[in-house]
Amino acid sequence: MQAKKPEGTEDLFGARMRAWERMQAVARETFSRYCFSAIETPAMEQVDVFVHGIGTSTDVVRKEMFRVFSGANFANVLEKGSEAGLKPGKRLALRPEGTAGFVRAAVENTFVPQGGAPVKMWYAGPMFRGERVQKGRLRQFHQIGAEVLGASDPALDAEVIVMLMDFYRALGLDMSRVRLLVNSMGDPACRPAYRGKIRRFILDHADEMCDECAVRADTNPLRAFDCKNDRCREVMAAAPKIADELCDECADHYARVKAYLDEAGVAYEEDPTLVRGLDYYTRTVFEVQVTSGMGSQSAIGGGGRYDGLMELEGGKPTPGIGFAVGFERIMLALEDQGVDLAGPEPSCVYVACAAPECRDAVFSACLALRRAGVRVEADYQGRSLKSQFKQADKHNARLCVVIGPDELAAGAVTVRDMASHEQEQVPMDGLVEAVRNLV
Ligand code: AMP
Repeated sequence: MQAKKPEGTEDLFGARMRAWERMQAVARETFSRYCFSAIETPAMEQVDVFVHGIGTSTDVVRKEMFRVFSGANFANVLEKGSEAGLKPGKRLALRPEGTAGFVRAAVENTFVPQGGAPVKMWYAGPMFRGERVQKGRLRQFHQIGAEVLGASDPALDAEVIVMLMDFYRALGLDMSRVRLLVNSMGDPACRPAYRGKIRRFILDHADEMCDECAVRADTNPLRAFDCKNDRCREVMAAAPKIADELCDECADHYARVKAYLDEAGVAYEEDPTLVRGLDYYTRTVFEVQVTSGMGSQSAIGGGGRYDGLMELEGGKPTPGIGFAVGFERIMLALEDQGVDLAGPEPSCVYVACAAPECRDAVFSACLALRRAGVRVEADYQGRSLKSQFKQADKHNARLCVVIGPDELAAGAVTVRDMASHEQEQVPMDGLVEAVRNLV
């Protein structure tokens, strides 16, 4: 039987892989202007990292985590029918997002010593969620994210958002079709009272809302703003707004974030119903959507401030803020807008072998060119010269170096320009220089 890839996963190769690499390169270029350095954390973490960080009332933790057991532990779990006997350190899950693992790493490696300077890091990699698969919604997808720990200055919130918008622009997205939504979710001083108000509001309207929202009233009432059910959304449109309930500090923070965004010329829309899916957000939250061509999966990125997360992961109180963007979603948006992020295969020099006795000379020429930093392709199948020229075109070769018996006898090679078909002979030992002058 021929095995198939798991549902909701993708093999990345060819143009799609080039696009993923290009997206990471654009992220690196853009984020390094803001002095972010790269980090890679494990693709799996102890379940508790997500349970503490993301929260047990979220869909991500309750329904969507892929669990991981090593061989012996798996047998144990099967036998006992439960993982209760496993030490917490052996209960693992594939990461559904990057922030909780990043914060775990920050605690473990003391990225921000008490009173230390903020740390800014970015990452790129696969994330795993057991979602119902549809266009733009996968089970293994790729995110690029950036995180800052150690400062609560509203200028930082604005800078992180400006950096995110810089990134989308650098990818070639039409920014007139991109919407930035912002909101403040308050903090432990003002959110509990607001949550209570929303809970009461849902209970008062329970007969008009879905069963899940009725449960949310007690577990995670703010999530009712995000309910997929249109009727629930309609009802929630009339719910009390957090903007009216913020404490003075949160209101001031939010006002300053918006003032900085105004100064940066970044357009945004305030969305008082934007609550984001994960429990850890405080104060500033934001989401970026594309306005056309994406159907229901229009969110291409989002993030927010998470001032309480370090403590949830066992660290000292340390403010933080970050965002994550989805590679697959951005690709859908770019494709819809006719932007080719992958671009063509990079050009190369093709070294053609006109006769079997020239094979060794071709090998030497390839070696010399590659050692000089040139991207080189050659034939390994003894094809005809005509077919090698076709291959050279396929590999997007700008130049073709041809070595045949005449060239061999003259201690030379023929260098052919693939576009103009002009060609000249150069001495074998002048090949590297000749190629360098022509590409
Ligand atoms: P989140 O971590 O849920 O805030 O997601 C951040 C971004 O990741 C979203 O805006 C999407 O672009 C992307 N994303 C989230 N879940 C998926 C998924 N299942 N498949 C593809 N992209 C996703």
